[in-house]
Amino acid sequence: MNDVDVAVIGAGQAGLSAGYFLRRAGLSAVLLDHADGPGGAWRHRWPTLTLGKAHHVHDLPGMPLGEPDAARPASEVVAEYFGRYERTFGLDVRRPVDVSSVSAEDDDPHGRLLLATSGGTYRARGVINATGTWERPFWPYYPGRETFPGRQLHTADYRGPDAFAGRRVVVVGGGASAVQALLEIADVAASTVWVTRRPPLWNDVPFDEDWGRAVVARVADRVRRGLPPESVVGATGLALTPEVRDGITRGVLARRPIFERVTPTGVAWADGTTADADVILWATGFRAALDHLAPLRLRGPGGGVPLDGALTTRVAADHRVHLLGYGPSASTIGANRAGRAAVRELARTLAEALARVSARAPAPGATIVTGV
Ligand SMILES: Cc1cc2nc3c(=O)[nH]c(=O)nc-3n(C[C@H](O)[C@H](O)[C@H](O)COP(=O)(O)OP(=O)(O)OC[C@H]3O[C@@H](n4cnc5c(N)ncnc54)[C@H](O)[C@@H]3O)c2cc1C
Repeated sequence: MNDVDVAVIGAGQAGLSAGYFLRRAGLSAVLLDHADGPGGAWRHRWPTLTLGKAHHVHDLPGMPLGEPDAARPASEVVAEYFGRYERTFGLDVRRPVDVSSVSAEDDDPHGRLLLATSGGTYRARGVINATGTWERPFWPYYPGRETFPGRQLHTADYRGPDAFAGRRVVVVGGGASAVQALLEIADVAASTVWVTRRPPLWNDVPFDEDWGRAVVARVADRVRRGLPPESVVGATGLALTPEVRDGITRGVLARRPIFERVTPTGVAWADGTTADADVILWATGFRAALDHLAPLRLRGPGGGVPLDGALTTRVAADHRVHLLGYGPSASTIGANRAGRAAVRELARTLAEALARVSARAPAPGATIVTGV
């Protein structure tokens, strides 16, 4: 049994930010990650997603990313950066360790949490869940999908445009990943068709701090009410960059409404029109990877996990658990800021739990938490 103050599940941007502040708070912590190496979801991003094409990778606390070559794949740059970060701050990252479930040790709401993992059982006083979304790609179902003999893939499997050379491609989805893939694929494919459920939400306002604050406030409000976080594009819209404007002018980003069904030759709309296809790329987004938390029964009637706390990371029904990289903190900048707030609140919760225990019987050697 590994006993710690706090177990962090996931060592991506959110987990590392939490790890840094936990160290500063003097709490014992482990970061459990089931990947083979550092980088979080970034290690899986397709090679043509260069650092320059990513929206922005925000610095982790205490160590700037610097100014790496923007033409290098973000997957390499970020994996190197995260690896350097773990070593510099001596974070106790254990991998590959898969966390399959988190449950309460007993009925005491201030008691320990048990983590069943591929590396044995961990016992923690608090848990920061930072498992991201990359591993839960969302594939919507449309009738006939199983009758299509061509290739179907999700953004999570996209490795760049080469595999689409000379093919007729249907791209499904209204987010930034769909737009980026279309702009790359259209140069090499025989044809592309872009379909989305709703008209694209083009956003021409500057993505500055005020705008960011307003987006985060809207997402936080949803999550506080226990609703599942909406899609990223639903919150941010699509940036009208010069490349995107050019794609609109060239007709690459001419959107059609979502089809009614998939057919053995492509896709078909209700009005009888069709598009032939060799490949369907489902750029239909991701969901939060929270299955391992199911035993704690954190989901509310709204379908999401209701959160509270300063930066909306604390599980309203169980203050021992924080979700980082979920809802308003699901961006590199959000995860960063929320790491500090989550640790501060969790430290307070754990101190209160200890005080309660020591009121009953003094606990020698108990961790004393000071400021974060
Ligand atoms: C295509 C794409 C592009 C994006 N581009 C940007 C961008 O440019 N800028 C930006 O700010 N945001 C971007 N985002 C959002 C981005 O994913 C987040 O900002 C951030 O990188 C997520 O960090 P995270 O730590 O929350 O999750 P992740 O980076 O996904 O890390 C989660 C970690 O948890 C581990 N894990 C998961 N489940 C378990 C388990 N059960 N047991 C053990 N370990 C587990 C995984 O191995 C992984 O290392 C993008 C998202 C996508 C999908």
